[in-house]
Amino acid sequence: MDAGIKTEPTFRESVDLMFNRAVALMDLPPGLEDKIRVCNSTYTVRFGVKLRGSIHTFTGYRSVHSEHMEPVKGGIRYAIGVNQDEVEALAALMTYKCALVETPFGGSKGGLCIDPREYDEDELERITRRFAYELAKRDLINPAQNVPAPDMGTGEREMAWIADQYKRMNTSEINANACVTGKPPNAGGIQGRVEATGRGVQYALQEFFRHPDGVAMAGLNGTLEGKRVIVQGLGNVGYHAAKFLAEEDGSIITGIIERDGALVDDGGLDVDAIRQWIANHGGVKGYPNATYVEDGPVVLEKECDILIPAALEGVINLTNADRVKAPLIIEAANGPLTAGADEILRNKGAVIIPDMYANAGGVTVSYFEWVKNLSHIRFGRMQRRQEEARHMLIVEELERLSEHLGEAWTMTGDFKEKYLRGAGELELVRSGLDDTMRGAYQAMHNIWRSRDDVTDLRTAAYIVAIERVASSYQAKGL
Ligand code: GLU
Repeated sequence: MDAGIKTEPTFRESVDLMFNRAVALMDLPPGLEDKIRVCNSTYTVRFGVKLRGSIHTFTGYRSVHSEHMEPVKGGIRYAIGVNQDEVEALAALMTYKCALVETPFGGSKGGLCIDPREYDEDELERITRRFAYELAKRDLINPAQNVPAPDMGTGEREMAWIADQYKRMNTSEINANACVTGKPPNAGGIQGRVEATGRGVQYALQEFFRHPDGVAMAGLNGTLEGKRVIVQGLGNVGYHAAKFLAEEDGSIITGIIERDGALVDDGGLDVDAIRQWIANHGGVKGYPNATYVEDGPVVLEKECDILIPAALEGVINLTNADRVKAPLIIEAANGPLTAGADEILRNKGAVIIPDMYANAGGVTVSYFEWVKNLSHIRFGRMQRRQEEARHMLIVEELERLSEHLGEAWTMTGDFKEKYLRGAGELELVRSGLDDTMRGAYQAMHNIWRSRDDVTDLRTAAYIVAIERVASSYQAKGL
């Protein structure tokens, strides 16, 4: 049992501590461990934008953690608390995340210190274009070298501005659309990218529940049906995860924690109605169909089966970890548990599905979008109708046979319709994402269950990821 961390490390130190735990169980060549752990470079830029009659100065970062594969990949965050330590921690997590889910990228991350709610759309566009210009002219946005994506505080709209800015600066670059992912589908994006991270959380949980040994370690049984779920953060990730789990897996969302408090209802909350309420009222307070709890973070400590922190890093830490009762925690955010909290919860027997796996759905679908942009064709465009025609041949032949035999076989309309429909882009994206989440879980699970010295999924995830990064460095002769 670990009992070491007494003071809260920074986010980057927390990631390093988790990394160190894993490499202690590995046999890496001398020096390689350090090479993998350190962040290669962090670029800081301060730029001015004239707004409301005066010049406003903004500080932004783009950190490249590892270039063992290029391009490097990772989102751009807009938040007032963005700082170098945070961006470097997030870039490191991108390296391990990409290795774990086998997207062929190194790790990077960017951030801009800004509260996006303080600016109108026009102002945000000017700020974003200027930031993109600063990064693109140093190849920190580039389809072959560094490909940003959405993160907290950014979305399709910002990615469309970034892509357009890059195109203005590189007018003859045929692959310019691949300079950023998470674009709107009508501007070079891909179906299913917005929901991807939340969808990935759902697929991760589905795969977890397909392995009864892990489920039993968490003191649970059965399937996702009827499981009580608490979600922190009803942003893009938390909203989609909660919605899909409630609508498709029969889970019951018993708590939703937001900035201004929490809503609880043991009978189940209506995720869409609450999201709408937040959009109209700016918070959860006043929502009529649930109990409001002013001190939102205490709901992290409420009894439930599955806790999904889907907001900021460090929300479960040395001050509250020992009161968290959830037997299964899935880190939909990046770094929601500090290294100290992770230790306390592991010692208590909680099973933690780590961020680098749990939220990898976003970068996985970003990978599909990047490939789509480079291939200049939508997935399924060539095969879809041909697939439908072949299915039709079988259906017609079966119907002909049944007539011939004089039996009144009829296929149900629902089956026939589903079977005949060829896969479009969205179906293919979901299938690729599901396959990725299953494969990555199985890689972690093999290490977790086959090695006595690996007692948690996070360490297993790091081992899988670090081994892959190490072999890529070794293959290059480094
Ligand atoms: N920002 C997301 C993450 O933390 C997505 C990154 C990407 O798609 O490149 O994984």
